[in-house]
Amino acid sequence: MTITTHRPFDARTDDILRQLVEGGQYKHLQTLTSPMDATVRLRGSDGSEREVVCLCSNNYLGLANHPEVVEAGIEGLRKYGAGTASVRFICGTFEPHEKLEELIARYMGTPSAYTFVSCWTANEALYPTFAEPGDILISDELNHACIIDGIRLASTMKKGVHKTVYKHADLDNLEEKLKAAQNNDEVTGQAWVVTDGVFSMEGDIADLPALRALCDKYDAMLVVDDSHGHGVMGARGRGTHEHFGMVDHLDGHHDDTDENGRVDYFTGTLGKALGGGAGGFIAGDKRGTELIVQRGRPTLFSNALPVTVACSAAKAIEILLREPERVQQLKDNTAYARRKITGAGFEVIDSPTAICPIIVGDTAKAISMSKRLLELGVFVIGFGYPVVPEGHARLRIQISAAHTTEHIDALVDALKKL
Ligand SMILES: *Cc1c(COP(=O)(O)O)cnc(C)c1O
Repeated sequence: MTITTHRPFDARTDDILRQLVEGGQYKHLQTLTSPMDATVRLRGSDGSEREVVCLCSNNYLGLANHPEVVEAGIEGLRKYGAGTASVRFICGTFEPHEKLEELIARYMGTPSAYTFVSCWTANEALYPTFAEPGDILISDELNHACIIDGIRLASTMKKGVHKTVYKHADLDNLEEKLKAAQNNDEVTGQAWVVTDGVFSMEGDIADLPALRALCDKYDAMLVVDDSHGHGVMGARGRGTHEHFGMVDHLDGHHDDTDENGRVDYFTGTLGKALGGGAGGFIAGDKRGTELIVQRGRPTLFSNALPVTVACSAAKAIEILLREPERVQQLKDNTAYARRKITGAGFEVIDSPTAICPIIVGDTAKAISMSKRLLELGVFVIGFGYPVVPEGHARLRIQISAAHTTEHIDALVDALKKL
């Protein structure tokens, strides 16, 4: 007997996928057959493989395949096995977690840190755990998707947690929101200002000292997700707070002369510049990380960061602390790339970060340009709607300390052929 049913999901999903293909917005996954590095091997749809220059990874410091990072992971695997088989508070906290968290705190200049399987998870833990009814979460409109979702989750899980959005990097608009919150009888608790440090699609940075000043004026807390800033910004790659002179416990030494104040809590990823492979963290005062340990649902009910990954991540941070010249190399490479790309007649959004977006406008155009670049041996991704607003599609070029001038020249030569 055959049962025929009409299942709404099947028909509507086929429709969505067809529309994406017709609109030139369908994403094809590219499969790597080599480690992540300045160049990578890609497998084509016909099964053939070729080497291309990789200019779209977050491997900013070239640590993803660093021999010491790889070796640290293997040693961790041998010593502690593959699985944690537990959440942190039951029996899933291992020595390498402790070591990694101490290292992150030292690197970030914060009193404490706590890890997650991803930064996505860290944000999903932070907002619903920190916010209580009567609080308001005030978020930059270009914040990363996981901040947006974390805030939505907080306001859904706890009735009475308010949320609002301010125009991107617009301090006047933010102050209006803070004032409105102050005058709102329902906002009786804590105000939170939430921002990316480095914005992933524009490559621009948040004005942290100005945000701090506004937060102080309105007794608000400042939370910064610096996933694209860690390892990139500041002389030693600590992040956007270092760029602005806001590191307050540099190498464990409290610095009272710091006139720009500090960030209350950070979230960040271990899967970008800090090339351990994956993982995320919250860094800041101990009372906040303790509250997360006690109350954060993603850490109470989901496995700990795999130990082997914690070992790799710790090694990556050790290398960064030991070799700050990697950060300078990244800055030099980025300056070189920006100069050459501009010289070739393309417009790059200006910023001090390693993200160099070339705005092309139409989504389909961005996708077809990146396809052509790949044929020319240069791996760059075109981002369009809905990742960025309609009409603002772009090629997002990401520079790494691992690139040589030849790699960047190859990019510019390919761009010239478009
Ligand atoms: C990339 C990114 C994330 C996601 O980090 P994962 O560790 O991969 O989950 C979170 N926040 C921001 C701002 C990011 O740029």
